[in-house]
Amino acid sequence: MSAPVLETRGLGRRFGGLAAVDDLSLRVQQGTVIGVIGPNGAGKSTLINLITGHLKPTRGTVAIDGRDVTGQRPWTIAKAGVARTFQIVKPFRELTVRENVAIGSMFGPERARSVREARELADTVLERVGLLDEAEAYPGGLSVADARRLELAKALAMRPRLLLLDEVMAGLRPGEIDRALELVRSLRRGGMTILVVEHVMKAIMSVSDSVLVMQEGRELVRGAPEEIVRD
Ligand code: ADP
Ligand code: MG
Repeated sequence: MSAPVLETRGLGRRFGGLAAVDDLSLRVQQGTVIGVIGPNGAGKSTLINLITGHLKPTRGTVAIDGRDVTGQRPWTIAKAGVARTFQIVKPFRELTVRENVAIGSMFGPERARSVREARELADTVLERVGLLDEAEAYPGGLSVADARRLELAKALAMRPRLLLLDEVMAGLRPGEIDRALELVRSLRRGGMTILVVEHVMKAIMSVSDSVLVMQEGRELVRGAPEEIVRD
């Protein structure tokens, strides 16, 4: 069997006396979706930050496709095929929506070779997330739902192997959530490996192959969505 796309061993991060993430070991195989739920402050965003290199672990390791990337910088880890969204969206405000996404396509493992190719790829991704109509707009003028679509489009433009989503469905209306879920399913069908952090239980249960429940930085339970619902 090939190495899991994501593997963490005994991963942990302390902030002073607080263990924000504590002794977390995960193996996520290619083409699967792992859902991560837990109350506010459980350590979900910290877990993503540890995987992407936005935070350095105080213990444990992170491997992508079997290669140890522990402690490496975010851009190095991005080149290994990892893309993420931020819970608080982070667009380049002085660039258009299309330009924001085109920048994403110039990083990552399979980079666009020209500005023209980057723009074309940006439009393909914008169409996929339902934001092509706003390609010329500036991020400041977008609705909450569209700002989240942009955040997702920037990550997808990197053509990642591993995609980490931090509450991309927060604040969306039910119809918009259904569309976002359909997109996650279609990315999974295309072979992408996805870690989804979400508060909307129903949403996470319907797209995840396995679910990790975190509490106070630790794994509380883990299992198939049906088992977690029963628990
Ligand atoms: P979640 O995403 O599950 O809501 P977080 O990962 O954001 O939780 O936070 C986990 C815990 O770590 C919280 O108690 C939070 O206050 C703390 N924390 C997160 N980031 C920092 C930081 N940069 N400095 C200090 N404490 C932090
Ligand atoms: Mg969070």
